[in-house]
Amino acid sequence: MTERIPCKTEGCQATILPTTAVKTGGYCMPCHQEQERQKRQAYIEAHRKTVNQYEGLTDPVDVLKIMHAPRVYDPLIQYAPYPLSMEEVYLSLSADEAARMLNHAIEQLESGDTDEAETILMSLVCYLNLDIADVLPTLMEHDLYHASILFKDAPADIRDLLIEQAEADDDRRNHLLLILSWIGDCEVVSQFQRWSLTPPQWTEQLFVEPEHYALEAGWELTQAGERRSLIHNHSYAIRAASEEQACTAEADTAHFLQESRSACPWCSRKLTLLIDVDTAHLSLRYLGLPFERLQVMTCEHCGAYGTLYMELDQQGKPSWSPFNHLPVLPSPDLSADSDSDLSRARLILADVPHSPFYTANWALSQHNSQLGGHPSWVQDAEYPVCPCCQQHMSYIGQLDWEDIEQYGEGLFYMFICIEDRITATVYQQS
Ligand SMILES: [Zn+2]
Ligand SMILES: [Zn+2]
Ligand SMILES: [Zn+2]
Repeated sequence: MTERIPCKTEGCQATILPTTAVKTGGYCMPCHQEQERQKRQAYIEAHRKTVNQYEGLTDPVDVLKIMHAPRVYDPLIQYAPYPLSMEEVYLSLSADEAARMLNHAIEQLESGDTDEAETILMSLVCYLNLDIADVLPTLMEHDLYHASILFKDAPADIRDLLIEQAEADDDRRNHLLLILSWIGDCEVVSQFQRWSLTPPQWTEQLFVEPEHYALEAGWELTQAGERRSLIHNHSYAIRAASEEQACTAEADTAHFLQESRSACPWCSRKLTLLIDVDTAHLSLRYLGLPFERLQVMTCEHCGAYGTLYMELDQQGKPSWSPFNHLPVLPSPDLSADSDSDLSRARLILADVPHSPFYTANWALSQHNSQLGGHPSWVQDAEYPVCPCCQQHMSYIGQLDWEDIEQYGEGLFYMFICIEDRITATVYQQS
């Protein structure tokens, strides 16, 4: 039997064969591999260069082109970040610069880089609400129907083509019905009504009725065949306050994430006022609420497992609604409670409105917290039904936990039925 020798690393208990010792210089394989790893790491650290691709650039279009271009991973290169986020650069574009960015997307599309082209088009449409009707024939030529929101401003001739195609094209019908929902004009509404009254045979292949697709674009078809909007175009971002803003006195217009005095009857935790906003603010004025503040309350714990309703009294004070039905809650996880000690960002309401479609695509990189506009559904659209009038409730805004806590995730979406003075929250996460 060959005699084994101890590994040379101090404290290592392993023994090795003499042949291994020759190869590794006397170390066991795990120790040898660790030494090699450390050597590689030291080499990388000694030779890594920071590359600033944005150095000297003053044109935001050039900056965006670099941001969108794919990067080759190289451990020896560390890329310096740009001081603004992609969404901030988009917001800074002049009309002329936005048009140049649109041209760049068309070039990418024609050279076959459809992913990059789509992300650029999506950003232009969502962040800037840019009309890209001229590009739609090119999108159709390249069979790009899945980014349905891009078609929202389609002119009548293209809309009619898309309606015809939805009737005939079994493979693309799902995307085409979403596209028609985003267009959502009188002709689409009448078409959805016709399909609802006399369902074509192909509706059997769908999971839901054609008119149900409208919810994804923020509206529904009423019994009378009319369009009823479930969203509002006045939209304001809710953002973490900058250090400077955090030092100034808190404005009274809007407060977020305050602890309520009442407790959740299911889990006994304190309920949370997600928002407490002056009803005269432009983001809420359209609701015509007969009280001064709109407070949307939920249980951060139980609200993650189902719709939670709160009833508003004459002054707008919310209280737990008897319509709430206990969802199937997981067994109490007490460790999760320590999370509530995590520091949270102080949120403030933006001074100026943003595009109503700003957060409509959850897959883009923007911050999602806002009042008004279109929800950014992580999953399918989920407008709760008012327990009093059985109608879909209107969306009033959302808070994204990524904007609030360091490792936060998931969104609380907020809704209201004005007639019945009931609010609701729904939670989704990836
Ligand atoms: Zn060893
Ligand atoms: Zn609870
Ligand atoms: Zn109602």
